[in-house]
Amino acid sequence: MMSFDTLGLSEKVIAAVAAAGYTEPTPIQAQAIPVVLENRDVVGIAQTGTGKTASFVLPMMTKLEQGRARARMPRTLILEPTRELAAQVEENFNKYSLNQRLTVALLIGGVSFDDQNKKLDRGVDVLIATPGRLLDHFERGRLLLTGVEILVIDEADRMLDMGFIPDIERICKMIPPSRQTLMFSATMPNEIERLANTFLRDPARISVAKASSTATTVTQRLIASGSEAHDKRDVLRGLIRGAVDLKNAIIFCNRKRDVQIVYKSLEKHGFSVGALHGDMDQRARMLMLDGFRGDKIKILVASDVAARGLDIPDVSHVFNFDVPIHSEDYVHRIGRTGRAGRTGTAVTIVTSADSKYLGAIEKLINQSIEWMGEPVSASTGSGHRDGFQRGAKGNKSRHPGGNPEPRRADPAAPSRVTNEERREPRGEKPAQRDSQTRPAPQPKQDRPPQRERPAYGDRQPSHDRGSASPRHDRHEPDVIGLGDHVPAFLLRPTRPIRSAS
Ligand code: AMP
Repeated sequence: MMSFDTLGLSEKVIAAVAAAGYTEPTPIQAQAIPVVLENRDVVGIAQTGTGKTASFVLPMMTKLEQGRARARMPRTLILEPTRELAAQVEENFNKYSLNQRLTVALLIGGVSFDDQNKKLDRGVDVLIATPGRLLDHFERGRLLLTGVEILVIDEADRMLDMGFIPDIERICKMIPPSRQTLMFSATMPNEIERLANTFLRDPARISVAKASSTATTVTQRLIASGSEAHDKRDVLRGLIRGAVDLKNAIIFCNRKRDVQIVYKSLEKHGFSVGALHGDMDQRARMLMLDGFRGDKIKILVASDVAARGLDIPDVSHVFNFDVPIHSEDYVHRIGRTGRAGRTGTAVTIVTSADSKYLGAIEKLINQSIEWMGEPVSASTGSGHRDGFQRGAKGNKSRHPGGNPEPRRADPAAPSRVTNEERREPRGEKPAQRDSQTRPAPQPKQDRPPQRERPAYGDRQPSHDRGSASPRHDRHEPDVIGLGDHVPAFLLRPTRPIRSAS
């Protein structure tokens, strides 16, 4: 058995790891730690759940034992896309720094400027920041980046999704090139590859298996549902009630609006349930998470963005209320269960409108997922086929004659069509629907609803400052209203949430 002793970590750090109860390094830790200690740049292809945080935190702590921080000149900088991830990295430092006095500051939304400024003024060893907040501080002259010896760019592909790449480039240029740079990403799209080629020097490339291939302890299943939201909620309740050994579960929805609706519905049906979405403030999220970790809440309804990076060690079940639009999100979602050799179950609710996304997922994980019961078919989908007709301008029904072939991806379908477009009646006035279906008042929108915006520190992402992120574009198609088609369902009255379920 591999141990932490042989990786080159300092004695203090080894002792702290033992105190945390970890006996064996994970593959990313075993490979990355020695390389980081040799001062080499690293590109780590690994996702949350692989132990990647400790793979940079532990060698950083070893290196930080030498030297001291100076006022307003952090010695190391860790960039995270969301404040949750930033807070978790901070927790990692706290966990392992029992024997070491390290100053860690956070520059993220929801944390007071004053306290962090005081810390920065005294000098910090580790600064953990979201890119926007960091640049704000820099522009106010509160911060000098010329003393940064190690730069970590974590979750680079998620940064890309959020439009943060121009900010990252600016930050990279502000730090002396003599620094060591560590970049972690679950996937390596071209833009991230380019970033690595521009800002890293001869990086060691370390790739650990995706959750899809490692987590053989996860039983994956599909279940067919009618395409109306209440059909799906019915199926979901059946799944929860019928689940064997359900200890706790995360339910993923594609959109935050559905997070709220599913949450309310489950609450009404007497389940122990909480919700997590990007609009909640930091305190509310932390409270919710504490409740879930402490077993006070059994079921957590979440969106991908809100759940990203959450440190929830042993979820027994994952339910996908919606098939995720991006196949990598599927891998992230099911990676929430079956961790560390435990068994887990992941069930995805599939409607006849989901064939394309399901096809992409099965291609990515290189296996077809078994159905519980009958696969989705014309019979489950035919009553609700309006899903096929909504959305992009001129997007013809993909299944004329009412005979969808759900298991075959449709290469002719425009790639910019998202679940949202297909399911969301884009021309409907959100304010009007709010008053009828939403349990809690939400800010009025002039625009059609969009995919959830992530909880960046506090600034808008910089895609509107000149960068074009193709993946981001896909979330925000430039279709106006309904194009030239008004589907019949839009003319029907909306069901109020209280009677729906
Ligand atoms: P991460 O991928 O960094 O989000 O870590 C995922 C989870 O694995 C966290 O709950 C860590 O506390 C845990 N973890 C990290 N390293 C180890 C290890 N060597 N052995 C067991 N669990 C670990």
